[in-house]
Amino acid sequence: MLTLQGATVRFDGRTALDGVDLEVAEQEIVCVLGPSGSGKSTLLRTVAGLQPLDAGRLFLDGRDLDGVPAHRREVGLMFQDHQLFPQRDVGGNVAFGLRMHNTARAEREARTAELLDLVGLPGAARRAVSELSGGEQQRVALARALAPRPRLLMLDEPLGQLDRSLRERLVVELRDLFGRLGTTVLAVTHDQGEAFALADRVVVMRDGRIAQSGTPLEVWQRPANEFVARFLGFDNVVEATVAGEAADTPWGKLPVPEGSPQGPGTLLVRPGGVRLTNPTEGLGCTVTARTFRGTHVAVRLRPEEAPALEAACPLRSAPEPGDEVGVVFDAAEIVVLGGASAT
Ligand code: ADP
Ligand code: MG
Repeated sequence: MLTLQGATVRFDGRTALDGVDLEVAEQEIVCVLGPSGSGKSTLLRTVAGLQPLDAGRLFLDGRDLDGVPAHRREVGLMFQDHQLFPQRDVGGNVAFGLRMHNTARAEREARTAELLDLVGLPGAARRAVSELSGGEQQRVALARALAPRPRLLMLDEPLGQLDRSLRERLVVELRDLFGRLGTTVLAVTHDQGEAFALADRVVVMRDGRIAQSGTPLEVWQRPANEFVARFLGFDNVVEATVAGEAADTPWGKLPVPEGSPQGPGTLLVRPGGVRLTNPTEGLGCTVTARTFRGTHVAVRLRPEEAPALEAACPLRSAPEPGDEVGVVFDAAEIVVLGGASAT
């Protein structure tokens, strides 16, 4: 439904968006994930028509958007600082886009009521915006963006300012809501948890380019490269040389899954694949730190002459800092990065 071909934007000679190719299918929820400054907002602003392209093309439903002004693009954009109109009540905010489209009053009111139901604020139309909590304001902003029935809804860090537990709840509600409405969504966030919970497909950006695109599971299981792996929070990443089902690494010879790319490469060991055993077995390490993570304990390990390692241990059996342990590795949790299935 939405197609970007070689989308490029430069600011003062600096490239914010660098030849981005992206397709979003009807009813798909695509979440663009990346560090601050990687070009996420610029991407949304170009699609919205708020930022002209320096090169490349944009199509919505096959229509070339070149020269189409923002208000004729049928895209809804919701920013992080949702900027409700403080002098209008909730209903006035939700109906704003409908008024811009000269929708008749009765229809406006019916649509507003319907949307407030949808976002979990039934009957709130006459309430003042100032008396709403942050989460409620976020819902109003969402209802306002959805009201004109945009072909494509774009969200820029939509939950960025809310506290964590509210964000986690809203993201589940959003996904459910978009599914029920059949809304096509292009969202951006720097928060991987949010992206993974919301998206059908995650697009990871780095310096204005797409570093990887895939389902949340694909990206999580097979990061395309070291950048994506580290961005997702994986620290056990080293150079390795793979031969058959073994790899030479600074941590010794490690097992790798059948079919792994051969030769020199980069290897990721997920913390769950770092198994602790007694000090006489495997790679000898000293425990340097231990962090409670709710479902497990993250254990920081220092081998004698190799990069530090992180292990995920069950709550009951985690060793203490200063303990000497042995480490063995589980091939099922090892990924040779940059393999054929990465894009
Ligand atoms: P993100 O949303 O991923 O944090 P942005 O798209 O906002 O990234 O920015 C990408 C790059 O473009 C950054 O280096 C930023 O400083 C630059 N940039 C964004 N907007 C402008 C602008 N209006 N003028 C100049 N530089 C800009
Ligand atoms: Mg941004």
